Amino acid sequence: MLNFTYQSLPSRVRFGRGTISELGSELDKLGCRRAMVVASAPQAAHAQLLREQLGGACAGAFTRAAMHTPTELTQEALTEVARLGVDGIVAIGGGSAIGLSKAIALHTDLPQLVIPTTYAGSEMTPILGQTESGIKTTQRSPRVLPETVIYDVELTYSLPLAMSVASGINAMAHAVEALYASDTNPVVAQMAEAGIAALYRSLPALRTGAADPEVRGQALYGSWMSAMCLASTSMGLHHKLCHTLGGALNLPHAETHTIVLPHAIAYNAPSVRDAVDVIKRAMGGGGIAGRIHDIASSCDVPVALRDIGMRESDIDKVTDLVMSKPYANPRPLDAGLIRRLLTNAWSGLRPD
Ligand code: NAD
Repeated sequence: MLNFTYQSLPSRVRFGRGTISELGSELDKLGCRRAMVVASAPQAAHAQLLREQLGGACAGAFTRAAMHTPTELTQEALTEVARLGVDGIVAIGGGSAIGLSKAIALHTDLPQLVIPTTYAGSEMTPILGQTESGIKTTQRSPRVLPETVIYDVELTYSLPLAMSVASGINAMAHAVEALYASDTNPVVAQMAEAGIAALYRSLPALRTGAADPEVRGQALYGSWMSAMCLASTSMGLHHKLCHTLGGALNLPHAETHTIVLPHAIAYNAPSVRDAVDVIKRAMGGGGIAGRIHDIASSCDVPVALRDIGMRESDIDKVTDLVMSKPYANPRPLDAGLIRRLLTNAWSGLRPD
């Protein structure tokens, strides 16, 4: 007997190839006349293109967004928003640029039009993670959900292979954990299966098809589907581990997700048979944890936490942090098993 709650979220999505040409008309729909462009420094060229395209509708740009949304940078961006008399934000980039846009919206309620160029998925969620004095906190608020999202497949061609695959497996993690979330529902399950299938097909194909619109289109579509799953459900052990590793050890976001996901799946699999069946269907067969690990290793993405800056002595510290706060997860957390999971992920073991 079906029994669930589904809350849809109000955002407008334009998806396609060359869709960036519609930026002006989409911004008009939001009633913005003096937008500020937001990006991270490596994407200053993307920001400049938008400024040129917007012409008089662009009041200025802030191109210093950084990973994990440090609050000092948000304060600087807010000063610029006030100085320029901005009436909207246009953010281009990955989760870092979109995170800053959301932080500005939290304080100002300005409308946001965001243009994602990675697969992280922040654009579809009402979630904001911020870092203050080295501590990362996460909150949910409808104020931070971007009003409009333009997905332009062409803007993802330049994302390097390893970064694309790590970001894509980060996206896959949203769909995987949504399948066994306590607040999952049939709509989310459909999106999760579609997201995993699209990502599983497209990520290995990026090795030879980095600028193939079909391949890139599938990867971006899969990331959108997975982002919708993240927006609608509560994540479990995998996200808890990645959040702890990122916050306590400052490990890179997408790579950490990529390394941990196969191990988190292997941990939860005995308790989530139905979810495993859906993932198998999406991936066309079994051995799902090992096959996700294989996509990463075949595309030169690190598969061991020790290769992205974690020390062996950190394993106990992270185990204690994960065990110190209760967290909803289908399989109860056991300190010995979590320690073993982290040891396996640290050394780069391939799970079955
Ligand atoms: P990122 O935004 O820092 O991007 C990674 C790197 O890729 C950057 O150097 C960026 O300049 C570069 N890049 C992005 N697009 C490119 C392109 N098309 N071509 C070339 N280079 C490109 O990292 P990310 O993994 O996208 O996002 C991580 C951040 O997002 C973290 O802070 C994480 O907490 C946050 N996040 C938030 C949510 C949410 O719902 N709130 C969801 C996912 C991620």
